[in-house]
Amino acid sequence: MQKIRGTRDILYDELKYWRLIINKAKRIFEQAKYLEIYTPIIENTDLFTKSIGEETDIISKEMYSFQDQSSRNITLRPEGTASVVRALIENKLDTLNPINRVWYCGPMFRYERPQTGRQRQFYQLGLECFGSNNPRADAEVIYLAVKLLKQLSCKSLILEINSIGTSLSRFKYQEKLKNYLLHYVSDLDNDSIKRLYTNPLRILDSKDINTQKILLDAPRLYSFLDLRAKKHFEKVCKYLNLLQIPYLINNNLVRGLDYYNNTAFEIKTDIINPKLQNTICGGGRYDNLVYQLGGNKVPAVGCAIGMERLYSLLQDTISFCTSSIDIYIASQGNNANKYSLFVMQLLQARQFTVTLDLSSKSFKKQLKKAHKGHASVCFIIGEKEMLSRTITVKWLQSGIQEIFKQESLQFYTQYLKNKINNDI
Ligand code: ATP
Ligand code: MG
Repeated sequence: MQKIRGTRDILYDELKYWRLIINKAKRIFEQAKYLEIYTPIIENTDLFTKSIGEETDIISKEMYSFQDQSSRNITLRPEGTASVVRALIENKLDTLNPINRVWYCGPMFRYERPQTGRQRQFYQLGLECFGSNNPRADAEVIYLAVKLLKQLSCKSLILEINSIGTSLSRFKYQEKLKNYLLHYVSDLDNDSIKRLYTNPLRILDSKDINTQKILLDAPRLYSFLDLRAKKHFEKVCKYLNLLQIPYLINNNLVRGLDYYNNTAFEIKTDIINPKLQNTICGGGRYDNLVYQLGGNKVPAVGCAIGMERLYSLLQDTISFCTSSIDIYIASQGNNANKYSLFVMQLLQARQFTVTLDLSSKSFKKQLKKAHKGHASVCFIIGEKEMLSRTITVKWLQSGIQEIFKQESLQFYTQYLKNKINNDI
């Protein structure tokens, strides 16, 4: 049997990094009063079609949708924001609190072409701030994402930021852009030709060199923005300066989801590797989504970090020291095997990490496994020890052996604790 294409197993060595990321995120976000939320992985398909936009890649070709036993249309969530907004409205949080700050981490599903940094099941770590249209909220969200990446020692990151204004500005601009690009149809890449009639704004995002050249002289979205949007953007930039967060204004930055307005941003690595997906974090403002999905008129801003892409960045920069203080228990014979369970229970109660050998093989083989598992000491309990009511302890680094009385197991554990702490 094989796993489904585009999915991954995350084994212990990688999971260590994931834990580190989540623990740091939890500390940073909760320090800023962002509260964690879990939403279901399955939602009504409508939730996504109504929010992300029918003409986006996600809705038009990437959804994992199916009908359940009662013919309901269900979708595995492709992103977190729409679900969080649904939960906000359903739990009346938008009525209860003027401001709601939340964060989440969980799996998302998109039927994309699997490649490095792009899976069909991937995890996003996201934060959302509801209830303020103040540009300081945009700055806060960006600040927290940048802070997390910085604290994880991510280097060579670039924050790109843009304003995509209101849907009306975008609509007007879209027409102008389309008219301009129609003159160059034959030189555009295939994806962009398709997008010309469905979602011309996304052409700005094209990675194709020819298309990029054509775009150099295209009309600028910025000049279509109204005064309010421009003022908002200027303030966001000012606050980022104040927080000493470097950024690059990229007027061609548009997001792949329709619900954004005003601020749009991405955090990218500057590592030039065509095989690597270099966007780690994407986000922006979405002032109309809560209302659009049936809630109050609640402005919002948020972002999401791709866990797998972040992990691939950290993999080479962070290493974990393995100062293990594990105890391995090797035993042989019925009485000794039974007694080993008691010893395990007592040691774990004293906060040691304990591995019980379950093989009943020779002590030589059991000791080999203790070495392999990087234990500090091995407790040896055989027939001989059971007769003399002792336990033999072997220090695996030095090979030194000690024997102590079973009745003084409690005292011995204290001695062990002190000794291990002094050694580390
Ligand atoms: P991209 O342009 O790379 O497709 P996106 O604009 O679709 O990204 P968002 O929907 O904004 O991405 O998601 C935010 C982050 O989630 C991305 O920056 C990326 O780190 C991660 N992400 C998105 N899609 C995938 C995927 N298929 N596999 C792994 N990570 C992903
Ligand atoms: Mg995408």
